Amino acid sequence: MNHHKIKRLGIISALHEEQEGLVQAMEGLATVTHGMRDYAVGRLWGIDAVCVLSRIGKVAAAMTATMLVEKFGVTHILFTGVAGSGGPSVAVGDIVVAESLVQHDMDASPLFPRFEVPLTGLAHFTSDASLSTHLAGAAHDFVAGDFLDVIEADERRVFRLQQPSVHRGLIASGDQFVSCRDHIGRLGTNHPGLLAVEMEGAAVAQVCFELGVPFAVIRTISDNANEDAAHDFMRFVKSVAARYAFHIVRRFCQQPHPNLAVKAL
Ligand code: SAH
Repeated sequence: MNHHKIKRLGIISALHEEQEGLVQAMEGLATVTHGMRDYAVGRLWGIDAVCVLSRIGKVAAAMTATMLVEKFGVTHILFTGVAGSGGPSVAVGDIVVAESLVQHDMDASPLFPRFEVPLTGLAHFTSDASLSTHLAGAAHDFVAGDFLDVIEADERRVFRLQQPSVHRGLIASGDQFVSCRDHIGRLGTNHPGLLAVEMEGAAVAQVCFELGVPFAVIRTISDNANEDAAHDFMRFVKSVAARYAFHIVRRFCQQPHPNLAVKAL
């Protein structure tokens, strides 16, 4: 349980479409460009926030998280994005909030156990329980209160979205877009309980662990990480995932939370 108040929230997205609406919603917006990224600094529904696009992959995400903390002074980090389903219980349109994250392409064996990040002693990095619970609450409220209003009927039909579920558990990250049935099957075998596969979360988790910054990761399931994964991917991001991210972050910021300090700059 983290008892420190959120003084400044960093919000990382991997894709432009996911971030666009959040930046438009910021008040008192100032943009700072550094290291090939635009950091949007302002207030988001009353919270001092910095929104930034990490771009894709673990190094890109690690650099972005580090800059948010070291250069922009964020005290907490949220990552929002899309992911492939990690198993049959997780459907396209569902939401996954990470409890822990693993780098599935880390392998320094036999020097270190497979998946362990050398010299940390850890394979799984744990997200902040309090932030994650608040985020999952915002996701549940989104499903109950916004989903039917903000996701158009056409999109719900095309992507066969019904009442989305919110899952909490393990996310695996690696520098690979997983689009092969055998590959996602192996990942599921190697990582029992796997809910989602993506390319950034576990890198942010490692940086936040090393810097002592509480973080949470939320992912909308865009695909089944199989041969069809790239099909309609950008349409899903634009017309579905971007809206999920916007409204979930809005609810996250607007809802009272013991750790959210809403105060003037
Ligand atoms: N087609 C896109 C590339 C997206 S890469 C483009 O041209 O820009 C995939 C992004 O979505 C990454 O940020 C990753 O975190 C997430 N993702 C979604 N589905 C994934 C999958 N099946 N495997 C790995 N990452 C996935």
